[in-house]
Amino acid sequence: MQAEIIAIGDELSSGQRLDTNSQWLSKKLGDLGVRVAFHTTVGDDLSENIEVLRAAAGRSDFVVCTGGLGPTLDDLTRQAMAASFDRSLELDEPSLRYIQALFAKRHREMPERNRIQAMFPAGSQIIENPHGSAPGIDLTIEGDGKSSRFFALPGVPAEMKEMWELTVAPRIESQAGNAHGSMRYHVIKLFGIGESDVESKIPTVTRRGRVPAVGITVSRATITLRIAALSTSEEQFRELIQPTVDEIHEALGELIFGEGDAELHDVVVRLLREQNKTLATLEIGAGSQVADWLLSADPGGATSSGNLSVANISTTKKWIEGQEDLELGSDESLVACVESLARQQQSDLALLVARYPSPEEMLESQKAFPLCFALTDGSQSKVFRRYIGGNPDVLLPRIGKTGLEHLRRMLLGLRDDSLT
Ligand code: AMP
Ligand code: MG
Repeated sequence: MQAEIIAIGDELSSGQRLDTNSQWLSKKLGDLGVRVAFHTTVGDDLSENIEVLRAAAGRSDFVVCTGGLGPTLDDLTRQAMAASFDRSLELDEPSLRYIQALFAKRHREMPERNRIQAMFPAGSQIIENPHGSAPGIDLTIEGDGKSSRFFALPGVPAEMKEMWELTVAPRIESQAGNAHGSMRYHVIKLFGIGESDVESKIPTVTRRGRVPAVGITVSRATITLRIAALSTSEEQFRELIQPTVDEIHEALGELIFGEGDAELHDVVVRLLREQNKTLATLEIGAGSQVADWLLSADPGGATSSGNLSVANISTTKKWIEGQEDLELGSDESLVACVESLARQQQSDLALLVARYPSPEEMLESQKAFPLCFALTDGSQSKVFRRYIGGNPDVLLPRIGKTGLEHLRRMLLGLRDDSLT
């Protein structure tokens, strides 16, 4: 079963407003085990709407449209549906009475224009709208050996969601059956190597058309592997994906820092708590990424209880002008610096990051900056040097995550040579 979504409105196609309905509906269709193949956004133009509706009818089992059901001249969904499939628009008396009653309750007379909201393409079923004046349309179109069922819902997100839950989801479920269950997802995260390096380590896993499917995305230098499969229960899903999860772990091993929602800083905070260790950080330059993250971390929902609280992490941010050559300092001086930080703060571990480039430096295109990371855990101290570059939006997170990843490796007693 394949579905598609059509979001209708000039405010969407012009970028004035974000189309959140399509995202929400796609997740809901996934829950019903129906794959969404297309999202189309189209403005309030009759002929363009007709074009989009006709294209959808030829290729999808279910088409969910939102927007354009209002009473004004720019709301054209019902006219577009009628014209696309050569149906007349017919008045539905009960809907008209419902809309009139709605106005009466508000002590207003129904404007003539609202009559259009009681008109439906011939052959439609009506989708009730308990909290609005625009009922939805449910129309099945039989094409060349393929039938497509169209659901047209209002654009107002609250009305759209209520009508989906009350009427559309049950109708899709009864037609599609739920033998295949829901689309479920499992997420594996890593940091430290590039997207294409990840793929080259798991070439068979990301092959298109594979079950379960595995997609790779990257966000602020963290790589996410998203495993997706249809399954009837959480247990069946686990069983189905386990060989893939094992294969990924075998290929990527220690590079993987976590599964699910946890970010790298959450994992580091969790490890600190599990090992009952304290940490001091010192970040030099125009950034304080590690401190900002650690102080906001959620190590499994217990930030304010247990023995890890913000008090276990002391952070210092220093903006030192004229420290450009700090990264050129010897390993010995950096080690001395991070060890004295741990002593001063009486912490078990310490991390020094030097030096975040200034905003002006970051704007220089294609520049990679020399960074130093010094760490100590009391028994051993290490210095790492890396050239780090990228768009300013990614650069600071990448610097912070490099520091955190070294910290994670130190806490787990892992080697550092697989990081690039
Ligand atoms: P309409 O049903 O086209 O009159 O839209 C009514 C309201 O819902 C407007 O404020 C729209 O901006 C909003 N809306 C319409 N479509 C969407 C969408 N796809 N995502 C989020 N909001 C929407
Ligand atoms: Mg509209």
